[in-house]
Amino acid sequence: MPVDHSYVTRSLAELVRTNSINPAFGDGSSSERAVASVLGAQLRALEMEVTEYAPQPERVSVVGRLRGRGAGRSLMLYGHIDTVGVEGMTDPFGATVRGGRMYGRGAYDMKCGVAACLGAVRSLRDSGVELDGDVLIAGVADEEVASIGMSEVLRHVRTDAAIVTEPTELCVCLAHKGFCWLEVETIGRAAHGSRFQEGIDANIRMGRFLAELDMLERGLRGRTPHPLVGPPSLHAAVLRGGTGTSTYADRCRLEIERRTVPGESEAAVVSEIQEIIDRLARADQTFQAQVRPFLTRDSFEISADSPIVGIVREAAGGVLGAAAPVIGVSYWMDAALLAAAGIETVVIGPTGAGAHAAEEWVDLDSVRRTAEILARAAVRFCGSSEGA
Ligand SMILES: [Zn+2]
Repeated sequence: MPVDHSYVTRSLAELVRTNSINPAFGDGSSSERAVASVLGAQLRALEMEVTEYAPQPERVSVVGRLRGRGAGRSLMLYGHIDTVGVEGMTDPFGATVRGGRMYGRGAYDMKCGVAACLGAVRSLRDSGVELDGDVLIAGVADEEVASIGMSEVLRHVRTDAAIVTEPTELCVCLAHKGFCWLEVETIGRAAHGSRFQEGIDANIRMGRFLAELDMLERGLRGRTPHPLVGPPSLHAAVLRGGTGTSTYADRCRLEIERRTVPGESEAAVVSEIQEIIDRLARADQTFQAQVRPFLTRDSFEISADSPIVGIVREAAGGVLGAAAPVIGVSYWMDAALLAAAGIETVVIGPTGAGAHAAEEWVDLDSVRRTAEILARAAVRFCGSSEGA
């Protein structure tokens, strides 16, 4: 099943040329609507049934379905269609090709994956392969911020498995970290700077908390690392306390980001912090603090024994001529939401660099190869009496 390299490159160029900066990163004038309609047209050209999902105006995700003959398993090929902003980029929507690479915002993260999904379905059609199960391409909005696109699509669409095509340098990714955002607030008592008998300094108490947090942070990295994603970590991301130089600070607020590994829960993360607070409160009755989690995204892990993993590894080995390395990654993806919805999910995507950076590019041959891996995996997973 050869993949049409020029079709994949052309499709990717159309997507990169269409501004789809997530409104959270731009001036608010951009959204996923335009790119969803470009992708919708590409899906229709492949004779897929196309449905749009928009939980908010302009925040459009699009799903194409290639109907199988009915008896096989269904497979979703996934890519997100939003990008981060373009500050510092010289030609973010140029889709310029130089030396086998395409440059532009989203070329690597991750319109390349979407183009690979298109290339896979095009290859199935060109080869005359009829699948038993359905193959879907989901181009979802808002992965870079709150994943409202994936959440909405999962309210309407279910498949037996999914392949997320975030760029993995053609490695098979079986796990990613999650994260938990926590707010810790120390509570003091405001008083005039001269009145030490009355004031309780919330900032100094936050200092004690931070010293303990420092120990916890070092402890996390000393834990037995997860075999694919390494150890958990945390950082003290944002700190605000005090109202004026001549006033005892009555409150100090800290935002912590805690990166979690598979097996760690929000409750466990919160209780580690609560233990520090309880210890400091026992040592000093004037120490008062509270912890509150305000956003949690689960980690993701799939068993190496699950059918979709075996099929993707075999397809990748066939296309690449050698076994594809198995990896985990530290950043979060929508893979966790797919897995939480009960859809067996694995990640593989193209090679490149510059996600969220001023120069972003993807290796075009790796996009074609990803497409070929996806096409082979679809035939094996969804079934086809023609073989291929
Ligand atoms: Zn991405």
